[in-house]
Amino acid sequence: MSYQRRFRNLPNYAKYLECTICLEKFIKPSITNCGHCFCQQCSYNLNKCPNCRANILFIKEDPLTQGLIDELEVVCNKKNVLGQG
Ligand SMILES: [Zn+2]
Ligand SMILES: [Zn+2]
Repeated sequence: MSYQRRFRNLPNYAKYLECTICLEKFIKPSITNCGHCFCQQCSYNLNKCPNCRANILFIKEDPLTQGLIDELEVVCNKKNVLGQG
């Protein structure tokens, strides 16, 4: 089985940190002109936003979302020390 990147203890806002294309948490989150966020890789060849059907005009990095993911991942790793869950 391949290792999957997942949040262990999902806070309420964690759903906002998951990509609607690959259904994983964002890897290098990038935000579109319509305000939706996808992984850099997932958004690479995107012409239309799968969330709101807007034409993708530009995509830029989303350091705020990346920061949240980094914070959560630290918590995850700490709580995962005993291998519970
Ligand atoms: Zn993705
Ligand atoms: Zn959108």
